[in-house]
Formats: sequence, C-alpha cells, structure tokens
Amino acid sequence: MLECMTVKKGMKCPFMTVKGCKFNGGTCHPIVEQCEGCAHVMETESGKYCRICPDPAAKWRLGKCNFATHVKNGNGKNGNGKRINPLKASKRKAKGK
Ligand code: SF4
Repeated sequence: MLECMTVKKGMKCPFMTVKGCKFNGGTCHPIVEQCEGCAHVMETESGKYCRICPDPAAKWRLGKCNFATHVKNGNGKNGNGKRINPLKASKRKAKGK
C-alpha cells in the first residue's frame, strides 16, 4: 500500500497509486457535521478528515455511521449491544409482544 500524498500525507492508503489518489475526486472528502466529536476525526492543514473513511457523507447517508465513536448505536447495534433482527422485531410487533 502506498502512502497518501494528498490530505492524509504519510498514511498508508489503498486508494493511493503511483499516478496519485484514485479515490472519487482524487482526494478524501472532508467530514460532515454529524462526524463532529468522533474519535476518528483528524485535523489536517486542509481541514478535518476521517481517519478511516474517505467519504464520511456516504457513511451517514443511510443512517448512523457504523464506525462513529460519539453516537449511541453508531455501530449498528441497539442499546444492549445486540444486533436487532428487523424481521423478528416486526413479527414481535405484529404479535403485540
Ligand atoms: S468514523 Fe464515521 S462518524 Fe467518525 S469521522 Fe469517520 S465517517 Fe465520521
């Protein structure tokens, strides 16, 4: 893996090639509002970026980011730390339990 030459200089990244960054747009995308407070946010000369995701907006498009450290249920689990099976949950609801 090559090291980033754009916003995360020095970090190894699968999108980096000898011809430059191959990620959509040629660079990582900055964090979005929902990322504020997350432990994965890194500040660089060119702004704030996510350490693990090149496109934070995409992580929030379909709900909460599954890597977020600052939101409850940010890891796709419910408050008990257990995954919810939506099918079983809707059956339970239908039975009135
Ligand atoms: S892990 Fe998710 S919430 Fe945290 S900075 Fe990255 S994209 Fe944003």
